[in-house]
Amino acid sequence: MRIKSDCYKLKACFIYNLADLFSTKLNYRIEAIMIKVDSHLHVNFCGFDSGKIVEYLDSKKLDKCWLLSWEEMNPTFESLYKNLSIDNIIEAYYLYPDRIVPFYAPDPSRTDWYDVIKFYHLKGVKGCGELKVTYRWLDDEITNVLDGLRKLKIPLVFHMENSNYHFFIKQSNFFYVFLYKILNGAFNGITRKYIEKFIYKTGFFKKSFQDRLQYFPGYMMDFAGLEQRLKQYPDVNFIAHGPAFWKHIAKDQDPYLILGKGKIKEKGIIFELFEKYDNLYADMSGKSGFYALKRDPSYTRMLLNEFYNKILFGTDNESGLPFERLVFRAGLSKNKLCRIMGGNAEMLCY
Ligand SMILES: [Zn+2]
Repeated sequence: MRIKSDCYKLKACFIYNLADLFSTKLNYRIEAIMIKVDSHLHVNFCGFDSGKIVEYLDSKKLDKCWLLSWEEMNPTFESLYKNLSIDNIIEAYYLYPDRIVPFYAPDPSRTDWYDVIKFYHLKGVKGCGELKVTYRWLDDEITNVLDGLRKLKIPLVFHMENSNYHFFIKQSNFFYVFLYKILNGAFNGITRKYIEKFIYKTGFFKKSFQDRLQYFPGYMMDFAGLEQRLKQYPDVNFIAHGPAFWKHIAKDQDPYLILGKGKIKEKGIIFELFEKYDNLYADMSGKSGFYALKRDPSYTRMLLNEFYNKILFGTDNESGLPFERLVFRAGLSKNKLCRIMGGNAEMLCY
């Protein structure tokens, strides 16, 4: 079974490369077969157990999915963390080996990091992800992770999110829950923006507001560090995801907004990084990827057309959002569509 599926991937890889070569260099069209892969999913998350995952794949006519973990030994805020364990992923993979591609990102603080990932690699893990941790790219623990991935020759899926001050309250009555929401990202950060401006301008509630703020250091958010790592590890494939990455589709940004909004005036840094580094990819999953690609259709067309070999279709369990329609509306050639919908994922993982 294993040999059969590996041959299939090699065949897909060969056809995609051939399609690229013929359509760009020899001006002749050859159409690749479409394999559809959701490259960013979690099990036991948002109501998705392994059975529901396969139901979802069938209903959307997807061939398979990448199933990703989330592991932090000491999360900044316990209440905002959900452990997505590798054991549940392996269990789902053994039930549906042809539909699930298992990924695992052990917490980089583990002293046995390499032994752990190697152990699971032997059990079938094909990549490291989702790495969603409060480290910076140049930390020693990340060096250890990247050295390990280089040895195992597997890709990395990582989550970028900006630091902020999170507003916490102890009470749990309706009013406080409401306050908690509007001060922590409801309406894409707009309510926080205006309430905070009012508080600092008038001084009303300033002390009680400040007393309840706690610093969240962000996840892998430093672009300069990322760029250094892309240069340093050209043989490791990096797959970006998350609000801090996708906000940089545009150069102009409102720091209060969690997801960027409106027409884009100038290209953000992600265009430059895609251009410069062959080993940088991104998945479009989650609200961050979806709304970044929805905000300005002309930039989405440009991005997907130019970097069709770098963007991966994925949802992050946001199966209610029409990701596929977004991709199909970009007016791409069949070969480019094939790459985004699953070809890139297939080529990155074998
Ligand atoms: Zn995720």
